Amino acid sequence: MSRPAEGAAPSSDARAPDAWAKRFDRQARFAPLGAAGQARLQRASVLVVGCGALGGAAAHALARCGIGRLVIADRDVVEESNLPRQVLFTNAQLGLPKVEAAAATLAAIGGPTRVEPNALHVDARALESLGAGVDLVVDGTDNLATRYLLNDWAVARRIPWIYAGVVGASGLVLGVRPGRGPCLRCLFPTPAPAGSLETCESAGVILPAVELVSALQIALALRWLAAEQLPAETSEALQRVDVWRGECASLALERDPQCPCCGAGRYEFLDAAPERAPVALCGRNTVQIQARAASGAQRLDTAALAARLGAAGVRVERAGSLLRFEAEAVRFTLFPDGRALLEGIADLDRARALYDRWIGR
Ligand SMILES: [Zn+2]
Repeated sequence: MSRPAEGAAPSSDARAPDAWAKRFDRQARFAPLGAAGQARLQRASVLVVGCGALGGAAAHALARCGIGRLVIADRDVVEESNLPRQVLFTNAQLGLPKVEAAAATLAAIGGPTRVEPNALHVDARALESLGAGVDLVVDGTDNLATRYLLNDWAVARRIPWIYAGVVGASGLVLGVRPGRGPCLRCLFPTPAPAGSLETCESAGVILPAVELVSALQIALALRWLAAEQLPAETSEALQRVDVWRGECASLALERDPQCPCCGAGRYEFLDAAPERAPVALCGRNTVQIQARAASGAQRLDTAALAARLGAAGVRVERAGSLLRFEAEAVRFTLFPDGRALLEGIADLDRARALYDRWIGR
């Protein structure tokens, strides 16, 4: 069984760096990048958190542009309702872990980029290993909890990151340069209460909104990665767009000296205990359960589990590194790290009980 392994490099091509000059000729001719900027892009290492609409568009663009190393992380699998806006996936990839499907698509595009897919739930512990050695983090998440965690982690580690969010036809982009410009908590000091914001489930989302927000996010990423150093000014542009109305606005933001994160240095989301409780996934009648093991290094013995389930008369399917089965009218999708998605259930306690019964503690 192949875990979408750390260190895997499915789309790497072994040519020497200067052998890519022809491929990237038009990019290097763009004066603000130049040959030196392009060379910096090819040495850069970027983590994209989330591989859905925004994360997939980011991974696609960064790979096309020749970023040296691309670490991608996502906990989900490809669903048919993703296909209208998640540009890396095809019909043939339904049911696969998103990062595995993404790595396959990026490998087919080719180029120098080394892609490292990670099928996991991004928590504080995962961020430490995913973010090791990266120059920049690109936000492709779909939830505020992960964004506040990411902001704490990036500010604490002094790693720049670029927030982006999209819903309906509109979206926001903000680059965060820790120690210089504002952070996410300077803009939104506390996460909005659950259920108070529009989501892609309630308000929908359309492809051109994803593409415009992603274009602004990736243009900023290229600007920062290709530069010898980040801009020195202390303000940063918050960009707001609405593709339906054809509106783009840019608002200069300064740091808030009272900011609990970049002002006071309190990393409340990073310091909170890692989230191991069951999580109901937004609008999907699906619950995510983490393995109880204290260490992520403890891997599930999928072969033994499949044999055990088979002996109990349960039909088990495999898709990539996933195991799938149905029991008690609930559909289980099990990842190699022991995490499971349970579809057809909303009750968190019952979901935990079913996990313990069918997969084990
Ligand atoms: Zn701040």
